[in-house]
Amino acid sequence: MRILVKLGTRLLTKPEGGLDSVRIDRLAGEVVSLLEEGHEFLIVSSGAVEAGRQGLGICPGTMDIRHKQAAASIGQTDLMNAWRQGFASRGRMAGQILVSSSDFALRSSYLNIRNTLNTLLERGVIPVINENDTVAVEELKFGDNDRIAAIVTVKVDADKLILLTDVEGLRSSSGELVKEVNEITPEVESWACGKGSECSSGGMGSKIQAARMVSRLCGIDTYVAQGSAEGVISEIIKGSNPGTVFHGGKSVLPHRKRWIAGMTPAGSLTLDAGAVRAVLEKNSSVLAVGITGVGGDFTEGDPVSCLGPGGEAVALGLANFSAEDIRKIAGCNSSSIKDMTGGCLNEEVINRDNLVIV
Ligand code: GLU
Repeated sequence: MRILVKLGTRLLTKPEGGLDSVRIDRLAGEVVSLLEEGHEFLIVSSGAVEAGRQGLGICPGTMDIRHKQAAASIGQTDLMNAWRQGFASRGRMAGQILVSSSDFALRSSYLNIRNTLNTLLERGVIPVINENDTVAVEELKFGDNDRIAAIVTVKVDADKLILLTDVEGLRSSSGELVKEVNEITPEVESWACGKGSECSSGGMGSKIQAARMVSRLCGIDTYVAQGSAEGVISEIIKGSNPGTVFHGGKSVLPHRKRWIAGMTPAGSLTLDAGAVRAVLEKNSSVLAVGITGVGGDFTEGDPVSCLGPGGEAVALGLANFSAEDIRKIAGCNSSSIKDMTGGCLNEEVINRDNLVIV
C-alpha cells in the first residue's frame, strides 16, 4: 500500500517551543517498520515555522509573513535533520521536497515533482514534503499542509491519506467523536470550528477540505487521528479506525483534472443558477451567457474559481480568455459575441475537460 502521512505542527513541536525530536524519532521508527512490511510512505511534515521561531526570539502568535519565512528557513533544516536522523538510524534515507503553489501551476513542473516522488519511492527513500515557506508570499501560499497532503496524495495515486494531529478526530456539535463520514455535508462542515492554534495553519476545516479533495478526485479514504498515540499509523494500515475516517467516493478523475484541482485560483467567475446546474449535473462547459460576474485580473489559461449565485465555490477551471475579455462577453449569447468581437472570442469560457467540480 502507498500511504501519505501528514503530521501537524502541534504534534511535532513541544508546548514550550522547539521540535519534539523524541516523537519524530518514534514516528520514523513506526514508518520504517511498516516499510519493511512492504508499504510505501510519503510524509508531509509541518513544524518548520514553529521550530525556527524560538531561534528568532519571537513570541508565539506575533509573527507576520516576513518573520514566518525567516523562522521557516531556520526551522526547516532542524525539522529535516530530525527526520533524517530518525530514518538514518534505521538504515533508511529521507529526501526533502519543498513546494510552493506556483510549482503546481505549470504542467511540466507538476509532472517533474511526480516523477521525483515516484523515483524516491521506487528506491525506498521516504519523501519528506513541506511548503517552501521562505519563498511563498501570502497570496501564493497553499496556506496549510493538509491541502498539500491532499494534492500530493492524488498526484502519486496513494491508497490512503492519514492526517495526524493532536486531537482524536472530528467531533459533532454534541461533542461526540464521529467515527465515519460517508458524505461531507454542510452539517459535517459546520462541526469544524476555526483554526487549530496560533502555531498551526490548518484545523479540522482544512482536514475536511483535504478529505473532500481526495475522495472526489481519486476515491480514497482519509483518516484523521491523534498522532501522539503510539502505533496509530500501523493500527490504521491494519484496518482499525482510531479517529475519524472520511470514506472515498467512487470517482477517479484523470490526472489532468487532478492537476487542475491542485491549482490556486487567480480570479473568479460568478455563474447563474442555470449555469451551475449545467456544470454540476450535465458536465457542461462554462459558457459566457451564464456568467454574471468576473472577479480579479487573470490572463488566458489561468485557473479560476467558478462560484454559484451565493458566492459558494462550485468548480475550478482554466479560463480560455483573460478577465478583461470575459467582462466584455459575460451574459451574452454566441451570436452577439460573434458580432461584438468579430469572431475572435467564443462562448466557451472554460472547456469541460479543463473543469473540475470542487
Ligand atoms: N509549512 C508550515 C510549517 O512547516 C506549516 C503549515 C501548516 O501548519 O499546515 O511550519
